[in-house]
Amino acid sequence: MRLQISSDFSINTDLLSLTLTEQAGRTAAQSRMAIENGRGKAEIYLPEGIKFSDYQVQEWLNKVIAETLRWFCPRLVTPRLLQFSQTYTLNYNRVTYKDVSSRWGSCSSKKNVNFSLWILLAPSHLVDYVLKHELSHLKHLDHSAAFWAEVDGMCGGPGAAKILDKAMNEFSKELSKKFLRRRR
Ligand SMILES: [Zn+2]
Repeated sequence: MRLQISSDFSINTDLLSLTLTEQAGRTAAQSRMAIENGRGKAEIYLPEGIKFSDYQVQEWLNKVIAETLRWFCPRLVTPRLLQFSQTYTLNYNRVTYKDVSSRWGSCSSKKNVNFSLWILLAPSHLVDYVLKHELSHLKHLDHSAAFWAEVDGMCGGPGAAKILDKAMNEFSKELSKKFLRRRR
């Protein structure tokens, strides 16, 4: 994922709060990361007066934010994945978080599940949907009726999965509209 990051960029969901603050005298970024009452809190401090319009600065900011999310994913997302995996007896081998924008999640025939670390931009109900979607692929490697029935069973009943799927698509669209990098 490559977002257009401005000085007022923030994440504020029920899972994570992330803010950027410019600080005088700072030469490198510093992230303060913590979990407070089950919610992630990230404060990223940046050198004062950095040029947000600069392409290199944008690349760097994206990396700084991605690395911050990389710290949070195993702490905020994996516990939810484990819980669903146990509740629905859908066992995976390994979970990996990657800096990708092509998809929110994927599942391999080796029963490894992968998620974009940018999934933490989404609120918990959409994160949970993506987790349940990929866990269901452990059993159904397609998008058959049986697959959707499996996800429905985890999401509250018939039809629930496709409603959440639509909501996740809307969320992705909004995200692109808001943060898609504008061409220079
Ligand atoms: Zn799928």
